Amino acid sequence: MNCRILVDNVGGWTGITVNGKMSIRQLYTQIRPQVEKVTWKRIICNNRAFAKSVFITWLAIWNRLVTKDRLTTLKITCDPLCFFCASTAESVSHLFFECSYSASIWNKILQLLGFCRIGQRFDSEVLWVLQQGRRATAKGRLLLMCFAETIHCIWIQRNTLMFTGDYKPADIAFREVIFSVACRCIDSDRKYLYV
Ligand SMILES: [Zn+2]
Repeated sequence: MNCRILVDNVGGWTGITVNGKMSIRQLYTQIRPQVEKVTWKRIICNNRAFAKSVFITWLAIWNRLVTKDRLTTLKITCDPLCFFCASTAESVSHLFFECSYSASIWNKILQLLGFCRIGQRFDSEVLWVLQQGRRATAKGRLLLMCFAETIHCIWIQRNTLMFTGDYKPADIAFREVIFSVACRCIDSDRKYLYV
């Protein structure tokens, strides 16, 4: 009887039968919440990077990292300038990768993976990484991983600088990103990470 109520709720048997047989797939499609697909899902769902890095990337994409511009929006008084360069207001867009510190790490990664370009604004970079990540190639897979690991690394360095007053130089941070990617990538892809 419970199933009957469920069938009634989805509009009867017509919508959940294929060739006269009930389809579990159709039923699942009918009962699950209908939500809009997000364009950036490949960066999060098809990424072999560490889960913590993917999570920080997800927060950055949603603009939910606690950057100084968000604190100001929440009426929390603080010095708005970026911890690294102290010349521009801190925001997700500035941290990834307008800031000279972040830009130098990301540009080294692009160079290592053989992309002849300079990193752009965060929004543009997300779209570009998505586009490149669609390719089922070593370069595409590594780019998705490097993107998440770079964002995580920069965020950790930013927090370390805030709490201890010290942070790793861009060159060392770059090597840490590569090491993290090398730990998690497919064995056959690792050769592309040799510096
Ligand atoms: Zn900066």
